[in-house]
Amino acid sequence: MERIHLLGIPIDALTMEQALVRLRALLTGDAQCHVMTPNSEMLVAAVCDPAFAAVLRSTSLNLPDSAGLLWAARWTGQNLPERVAGVDAMTRFLEQVGEDHGVFLLGADEGIAARAADALRARNPRLRVVGTHAGSPSPADAPSILDRIRAASPSILLVAYGAPAQDLWIHTHLRTLPSVRLAVGVGGTFDFWAGKRHRAPLWLQRLGLEWLWRLVREPRRWRRIFTAVVVFPWMVVRHKKDAESLMQSLRP
Ligand code: UDP
Repeated sequence: MERIHLLGIPIDALTMEQALVRLRALLTGDAQCHVMTPNSEMLVAAVCDPAFAAVLRSTSLNLPDSAGLLWAARWTGQNLPERVAGVDAMTRFLEQVGEDHGVFLLGADEGIAARAADALRARNPRLRVVGTHAGSPSPADAPSILDRIRAASPSILLVAYGAPAQDLWIHTHLRTLPSVRLAVGVGGTFDFWAGKRHRAPLWLQRLGLEWLWRLVREPRRWRRIFTAVVVFPWMVVRHKKDAESLMQSLRP
């Protein structure tokens, strides 16, 4: 499987169809797998937080969630075939999951995971949602949350605490949840499934401008969007220049 590297973080160069095949293989395999959907902002966070970077390097699959990653791949002479947004990948993946795999939805505001579960069942009546819980990423709440998940015995665990909290939580606790084969940090995905938030129109997504839609709809996110559309490209350009000057200085 081809992996490229952006700011030192591996990203899987897969199309959406290939990602779905891979997710199904991971679900039916023997290992416990952590899947992440890195976006530009998460790669900036990884530069500043070595513990988060280590988690990103330890996963079974890193799907390119944002259009910025496709630009960064091109800029650095690499290739990502297409954007595989986490919410789209998870929506399509769960449409194909049968009764033999239970799903647990952890995170988001009170009541959202249950509404998201209803929406998923409407799309796939065979889907067995074995539990939903708002919970919290606080370590003090972990023991009771873990008991709840163990009792429900899911094969798929989706965690919506936002990054990096959700992925640090999965990294810390996955081994103590023996039934789980696939654990995915899904950010605001439950909010979209529940109808609390709405995706950008397809034409804006195709132009790589979903961030602009989010800026207009949720202006309080401006710092996060600035990180994604200004800080991330700046870091990628700098990183490439640093690498080039290092290569230059190593020339005989
Ligand atoms: N969230 C949560 N507990 C927390 C912090 C966040 O359940 O302590 C949820 C929040 O309600 C939302 C999700 O985490 O459903 C993260 O949403 P965000 O907009 O950050 O996701 P992204 O932009 O990465 O899709």
